[in-house]
Amino acid sequence: MIDLHAHSAHSDGELSPTQLMETAAARGLSAIALTDHDVLSGLPEASARASSLNLRFVPGVELEINFNEGEFHLLGLDLRGDVSPLEKRLVGIREHRSRRNERIVEKMNEAGVGVTMTDIASLAKGEVISRLHFAAYLVHRGIAPSIPEAFSRYLGKGKPFYDPKLGLDLDEAIDLIHHAGGKAVVAHPLTLKLPWDVLIAFFRDRRGSGLDGIEAYHSDFPPDDCRRLEEFGRTADFIITAGSDFHGFRVPNRRLGYSSGGMEIGPEFLEGLD
Ligand code: AMP
Ligand code: MN
Ligand code: MN
Ligand code: MN
Repeated sequence: MIDLHAHSAHSDGELSPTQLMETAAARGLSAIALTDHDVLSGLPEASARASSLNLRFVPGVELEINFNEGEFHLLGLDLRGDVSPLEKRLVGIREHRSRRNERIVEKMNEAGVGVTMTDIASLAKGEVISRLHFAAYLVHRGIAPSIPEAFSRYLGKGKPFYDPKLGLDLDEAIDLIHHAGGKAVVAHPLTLKLPWDVLIAFFRDRRGSGLDGIEAYHSDFPPDDCRRLEEFGRTADFIITAGSDFHGFRVPNRRLGYSSGGMEIGPEFLEGLD
């Protein structure tokens, strides 16, 4: 088994990069990517531990792309080139994220929640604080019964505590990933919330302008949709990847090495990265 989408405590996962690699090895994975949101700081530690465990390590990142409809996340996979322009850009992106987080705290206080940024930050172990930390806080305070409910009631797009976060434009993100030697892969494409015809027209159009791959299999989506994405992606000459989007044990439907419908992720999904 392998996994091409996982988070550590450097963003909104729960395990340190070392613990993540150890968990992957203990569960019999032969390869794993670390794809933290907006941050590369976990990669050296993960890489070192993976090599001592004889685990193939795929250095990665997950980026927010500016997009009007749903949510557009882009994975940069196998970043083995010059990451300095990417890292430089991420510094500003992380600053935007911090300011967005302050606005979420304000919205929560206006609604009478009574919270400080320090309360939220105490749930995070790394530099990047995401809405998942806010969701965990709402559950901890008893304001939401579960993490999914925290999103559907409060933190999802259009909900009372939602505040938009500036991302990168797709073309710039692709260039930065390519400069870093990586492949640009659309994560969980169904969160773009585009009708199927529009989605595949968009992908076809973007294949010609540098987009490399589609994460056809993701834990949150039904197997039929994932197979359909794979089938389309292969005919349109995209790399097809699969991932769990593991964040630790707080988000229980995402298990390391497993994707849509509990499917074990096989090593064939590494093909596009070779
Ligand atoms: P942010 O990058 O701060 O906008 O936060 C997005 C993060 O929130 C994602 O990476 C997920 O970890 C988490 N997230 C978003 N929607 C959900 C959901 N419905 N259930 C669980 N986690 C979610
Ligand atoms: Mn996340
Ligand atoms: Mn994502
Ligand atoms: Mn992710």
